[in-house]
Amino acid sequence: MKLLKGLKHYFKSFLLWELLVGLKLTGKHFFSSKVTLQYPEEKTPHSVRFRGIHALRRYSNGEERCIACKLCEAVCPALAITIEAEPRADGSRRTTLYEIDLFKCIYCGFCEEACPVDAIVETGFSDYHFENRGENILTKEKLLAIGDRYEQQIAMDRTVDAQYR
Ligand code: SF4
Ligand code: SF4
Repeated sequence: MKLLKGLKHYFKSFLLWELLVGLKLTGKHFFSSKVTLQYPEEKTPHSVRFRGIHALRRYSNGEERCIACKLCEAVCPALAITIEAEPRADGSRRTTLYEIDLFKCIYCGFCEEACPVDAIVETGFSDYHFENRGENILTKEKLLAIGDRYEQQIAMDRTVDAQYR
């Protein structure tokens, strides 16, 4: 039995059997459809629940949604959110400072889950980078600007996901 196994192994190596098996696999993938994407021109599809960079949203009349309740700050497990708030002249409560430290953030999504007015959200955009010290801090102005830029996509994603919430 052992001799038979040895002979089989000998002839297989003599006939370059392993090489043929490898070539068969290469040939199979050579003619199949390719899965490599040409990033950044092409992107992989992702869930509407994908948690990318944060944004602060506004209502359609331009008023910011955030009511400075600080629930997101309280729920954040990474202590990444810092909020300061003051009442406005009209008595409404708004943030005077809203910052998210992206170096601390673990993209858990708790902030958007806790927000009662759907103000802080995580967008589907993840391809961003920092070039200078301090750019990891997303200020209120930056968050609102991201919200303004991606509002259409954010609203669409939330509409699709609404039936599961
Ligand atoms: S995603 Fe999680 S860690 Fe990041 S700011 Fe929101 S609550 Fe904090
Ligand atoms: S973003 Fe939402 S949860 Fe956070 S302070 Fe504003 S309203 Fe409250």
